[in-house]
Amino acid sequence: MSSEYDLTIIGGGPVGMFAAFYAGMRNARVQLLESLPTLGGQVQAMYPEKMIHDIAGYSAIKGSDLVKQLEKQMGEFPIDVSLSSAVTNVSGQMGDFTVTTAQGATSHTKAIIIATGSGAFEPRRLAVENAADFEGRQLFYHIPSLEQFKDQTVLVAGGGDSAIDMALMLEPVAKQVYIMHRRNRFRGMEHSVDLLKASTVTIKTPYLIKALAPTADGQLGLTMKEVRGTAEEQLAVDALIVNYGFIADNKVIRGWDVAPTMSNQCFAVDTEMNTDVAGITAIGDTVTYPGKLGLIASGFGEAPNAVNQLMMRLYPERRSPLHSTTLFEKNGR
Ligand SMILES: Cc1cc2nc3c(=O)[nH]c(=O)nc-3n(C[C@H](O)[C@H](O)[C@H](O)COP(=O)(O)OP(=O)(O)OC[C@H]3O[C@@H](n4cnc5c(N)ncnc54)[C@H](O)[C@@H]3O)c2cc1C
Repeated sequence: MSSEYDLTIIGGGPVGMFAAFYAGMRNARVQLLESLPTLGGQVQAMYPEKMIHDIAGYSAIKGSDLVKQLEKQMGEFPIDVSLSSAVTNVSGQMGDFTVTTAQGATSHTKAIIIATGSGAFEPRRLAVENAADFEGRQLFYHIPSLEQFKDQTVLVAGGGDSAIDMALMLEPVAKQVYIMHRRNRFRGMEHSVDLLKASTVTIKTPYLIKALAPTADGQLGLTMKEVRGTAEEQLAVDALIVNYGFIADNKVIRGWDVAPTMSNQCFAVDTEMNTDVAGITAIGDTVTYPGKLGLIASGFGEAPNAVNQLMMRLYPERRSPLHSTTLFEKNGR
């Protein structure tokens, strides 16, 4: 069977999205498969409201705005995007791989770029028996929109950078913000901790959430327990945002018929982003090589590398210039 696609990109995080755009610019027939119902990977799922300061060309850009820009850029080319399409199997070989999704859809592709980040991820949930009863109403694991918490009393649970970021982002919007951490020392960067201490955010340490219950006036009642102590404190909030990190797993990939070797959930790649399976490259947070940084900027650099070398192998006769202006002109744009 002839392949419908030259390149299939698995994973629609920022790095997969940029790779899809770049493949379009190289005139590849390309599809992008994403397991979540939205594009944007960690940026959209974990920190859509956070400002990102290390994207080239932007002194600061909100996570969700970066994703919008990437979608707009991808829109320059006819890329087949399938959401809610977790890839559960890859079989075949370079020139004709068959890709199967959880929904049972199959497609054929000459080569593959894996951009699955740390895998399908989900937040580390609050270990309190009835926590699920409040999820999505008063208990959240990320901030979908700051406006949602306008004039509310909010407690952020967590001690890392992103918990501190969340508390500081909420400070000008919410009526009152608390941050609760199980240790007296925060894990965040010194600068963030200094900003937190100088803010109006009320710090509660060392505490854990022991119980949740609705209050008579519709708030969420928290019972906080002192860690290694006996003190307990009650607090009523409009919203509890838990930021205990997230659990990600690339284990689904290990079950593929053709699966590149993984070490510590990452693919070891060479300088051209090749895995140990011919025709399958990997980019972004899902790869490891000496000096690899888990940053968007690093993944953006890896994407053109993977696309160009795969296209060179698939179509050696189509030698292409590297500069985008010429590539756009070749595409009639
Ligand atoms: C709180 C926080 C703050 C951060 N701040 C910054 C920052 O300021 N600057 C910076 O550069 N980086 C930051 N990062 C890191 C940055 O978000 C990652 O480096 C980046 O998201 C990696 O992009 P990616 O596309 O490789 O992977 P991801 O963003 O993880 O996207 C991978 C996508 O693949 C999908 N997927 C997984 N398995 C499958 C499958 N089998 N089939 C189909 N789809 C699949 C996932 O659903 C996901 O959407 C931060 C990370 C976090 C958690």
